[in-house]
Amino acid sequence: MTDKMISRRGFIGATAVAIPVTAIFASRTAAAQAKAMPHLDPNDPVAKALMYTHDASKIDKAKVPNFKAGSDCANCVQVQAASGAWRPCTAFPGKLVAEKGWCSAWAPKPA
Ligand code: SF4
Repeated sequence: MTDKMISRRGFIGATAVAIPVTAIFASRTAAAQAKAMPHLDPNDPVAKALMYTHDASKIDKAKVPNFKAGSDCANCVQVQAASGAWRPCTAFPGKLVAEKGWCSAWAPKPA
């Protein structure tokens, strides 16, 4: 075994440790940023235009014919986090939407 081989192994080992640590830090930073964001106000003009609600279960299907039963922010392709009662959404930058919420921009996550 040469010094060059040991050095290469050391580099690979350090990299293998550094990548998960960096990923954990980035994930925590994103989570901290998300917690600092305000909740989307349903009376926000864009939220109103998209018929956003914090609770999809209260949608009157007669008034919102494009609402599909079972659809909500948690299963929408536009939500930006895998879990949490309040999550970022690409349709409402800088705001958090309720996981049980819904708006007319809803589209299913790919299977
Ligand atoms: S785009 Fe999707 S995640 Fe965002 S508010 Fe509408 S239904 Fe919820």
